Amino acid sequence: MAPQGNKNQLFLGLFIHSTSLGELQYLHNTAICVEKSGKIVAVEQKCDQKKAEDTIYPKLGWKADDVVVTTTKDGQFFFPGFIDTHIHAPQYPNVGIFGKSTLLDWLNTYTFPMEASLSSLPKARRVYTRCVRRALAHGTTTATYYATIHVPSTNLLADLCLSMGQRAFIGRVCMDAMGPDYYLDESAAQSLIATQQTIDHIHKIDPGYTLVSPILTPRFAPSCSRKAMTSLGKLHEKTGIPIQTHISENVDELKLVKDTFPEFPHYTGVYDAHGLLGTKTILAHAIHLSDEEADLIAKRGAGVSHCPCSNSALTSGEARVRWLLDKGIGVGLGTDVSGGYSSSVLEAARQAALVSNHLVMPKKGNEYNETNGNKTIQKAKGTERARLSVEEVLHLATRGGASIVGLVDRIGGFEVGMEWDAQLIGLGLVDETPEEDDTLDRGNVDIFGWEKWEERVAKWVFNGDDRNVRKVWVRGRLVHERI
Ligand SMILES: [Zn+2]
Repeated sequence: MAPQGNKNQLFLGLFIHSTSLGELQYLHNTAICVEKSGKIVAVEQKCDQKKAEDTIYPKLGWKADDVVVTTTKDGQFFFPGFIDTHIHAPQYPNVGIFGKSTLLDWLNTYTFPMEASLSSLPKARRVYTRCVRRALAHGTTTATYYATIHVPSTNLLADLCLSMGQRAFIGRVCMDAMGPDYYLDESAAQSLIATQQTIDHIHKIDPGYTLVSPILTPRFAPSCSRKAMTSLGKLHEKTGIPIQTHISENVDELKLVKDTFPEFPHYTGVYDAHGLLGTKTILAHAIHLSDEEADLIAKRGAGVSHCPCSNSALTSGEARVRWLLDKGIGVGLGTDVSGGYSSSVLEAARQAALVSNHLVMPKKGNEYNETNGNKTIQKAKGTERARLSVEEVLHLATRGGASIVGLVDRIGGFEVGMEWDAQLIGLGLVDETPEEDDTLDRGNVDIFGWEKWEERVAKWVFNGDDRNVRKVWVRGRLVHERI
């Protein structure tokens, strides 16, 4: 691949990004200039290459022969890179393998044995390299990873993200209380030391955390002692390093939390009491929260990673995303590999739309009849607004994710001052002469040419995959290319 990122770059053509929840902006015939550092320094509408060279380059002090130019072809557009706010890299080999299990038996049957085996560095290198490459191929430019309890292989994941150019948060998993004997931190003190070792390593390889950052990762409350959670809360207070964990995913888990922590009013209260609930906390799932818990999360300014593929696969439940948003809680999307069966954020976006539709469907005890003229329609009580549109799920996949990982000023959209984390999407244009059409292998999205751009984007959301991701950049560096 060309060593872009150390040259100034001009991007030309159609750019699509979310400007607010439910709203996509279509910037046709637009020029975006990205300087060597990867920062967007100009966005000019109604602008072609000549106009950019004549009017923008002089202001930037650029010379035309020193600029790499990328132009969208017919059916192509630039879109902000996806942000996966919850993914377990060591579980990547298990994608799609969950049988009929639900959360707690799934952990023991599939997850802990796989995670424990990644104490082997050669195995970790093989799994993590493919996991990061596959995520980049899906257009994921930022990922918040859970690794394992092992320091060397967790540090290796950080090294790989840095060398492959993916923006990443790397969490060494803390679990000193509940887990199999063969896969557990020795003590709260040892858990803290190991966490600090990974932080030190990341600080050494990327001192400014420009691409790779550490993230404190108590697996979930039942797997951590009070002592371990207290020490992580203090470490967070001292360093400002963000936190990720799971919350309210499964009804058996809720009972386990209640039994393990009877002194706290609810699950959210456990994290809050240990200093783990704040503006830099990412809570995955958040399905079965009470109003009181959601209000506390909103008050503390923590964000939620919505993981619809996982929640359906493990029969965990349907997170009420609109309800969370209405409470003022920031929401992003997570693939939750391998509770989730795919590392594609586009898949998570489409499942987020479908799961939200399920919330609108009448269920026993939740239905009412609405009469319109002589027609009676059965509806679900109080849930009409739950449905998420294509525009809304794409917002969650980009700006929503950026907000909960604390990078809303840097990634998720195309404004001056933001960084060029982007993907070039290509949709298949069906030839006008069907007998000569050889475009079947260009992906699963067939565009006939009469669709409006809004319709093309909807076709992409529901039919697209990594074949549509032609190029991917992070901070201006080309990190994936499909010819
Ligand atoms: Zn998870």
